[in-house]
Amino acid sequence: MKILGYAATNPSAPLAPFSFERREPRADDVVIDILYCGVCHSDLHQARNDWGFSTYPIVPGHEIVGRVRTVGSEVSKFKAGDLAAIGCMVDSCRVCQPCQHGLEQYCEEGNIQTYNGQDRHDRSTTYGGYSQSIVASQDFVLHVPKNLDLQGAAPLLCAGITTWSPLRHWQVDANSKVAVIGLGGLGHMAIKLANALGAEVTLFTRSPGKEADARRLGASHVVVSTDEAQMAQVQNQFDLIIDTVPYVHEINPYLSTLTLDGTLVFVGLVGDAPQFSTVPLLLGRRSIAGSCIGGIAETQEMLDFCGQHGIAADVEVIDIQNINAAFARMLKSDVKYRFVIDMASLVD
Ligand code: NAP
Ligand code: ZN
Repeated sequence: MKILGYAATNPSAPLAPFSFERREPRADDVVIDILYCGVCHSDLHQARNDWGFSTYPIVPGHEIVGRVRTVGSEVSKFKAGDLAAIGCMVDSCRVCQPCQHGLEQYCEEGNIQTYNGQDRHDRSTTYGGYSQSIVASQDFVLHVPKNLDLQGAAPLLCAGITTWSPLRHWQVDANSKVAVIGLGGLGHMAIKLANALGAEVTLFTRSPGKEADARRLGASHVVVSTDEAQMAQVQNQFDLIIDTVPYVHEINPYLSTLTLDGTLVFVGLVGDAPQFSTVPLLLGRRSIAGSCIGGIAETQEMLDFCGQHGIAADVEVIDIQNINAAFARMLKSDVKYRFVIDMASLVD
């Protein structure tokens, strides 16, 4: 079926209207009319080919919430009219060890990204949520808790799960001290989720103006990372630091703020690691790790947790015609705290 979206056609072109063919639904597929789609910094990275593997035209968008229009003959988990959501992946091999353990994001054959990926069956290019509708296997479609505001729920599909997964993997609970670096889309969800798990939360930020918001979102402490005196006061404290910064940055100043056996986990930076000293690692048996989105079951667990706790993202809703201005503001760390596109603005 022919539909409309917004695409980048090369690394420097602004996003513009783009008409394209969605693949025909198969028996296990759900067809979703998209209501809202969050704007992730990964969308910007991939539109600009920052990671070097973009294929054009690229229709970004992997924080998708919508309503089911139709389902294939083998679909049992959804019916027409249901709310439904799609995150960063739409398929995986389903048989390797990670897939068997609900860790489809770490599929040994590579998960199929919601956009800039290749369908496993017909090798067609996948196109994301900056568009009118999407088709995906029911096994990669999520249920949205009914009590959540749909605009605020969309960013849970990437910003939410990407911060939830490390919080769960490193078993954060009421006895934990967690720090978050960077107050953007991922950072603000990390604060909300860690706080809801009972942890004591600290924000590291370069932006002193974000302090009041950080406290409102659930941080007990805010440390301006460029202020050495403030940094010196938080040594040997954190069990887990979630680093959401999208670009290369120094990490040495953060390592000594970890407690014995503490871990700094990269979720933001995709690329070569910054230089760091092993001394704070050796002297505190500390670790540096990375984490990629989350599995499908874990994503549903996170959505259900958010439903129970009334957690959604703080969003600025935009029309799709304003996406290029939104990208420009995101580059300046000027988003409170996630842009979400109202897809009703996308009309032929
Ligand atoms: P975002 O909304 O732009 O937030 C990033 C925050 O990092 C900014 O608000 C800013 O916070 C801080 N920051 C930005 N540039 C910085 C710099 N040069 N040095 C230090 N701090 C800087 O981005 P996002 O959507 O949260 O995404 C963050 C990163 O995560 C992106 O690179 C994205 O591609 C990646 N990502 C990874 C996964 C995964 O699976 N691992 C999933 C989704 C996204 P302050 O103003 O508070 O300093
Ligand atoms: Zn994302």
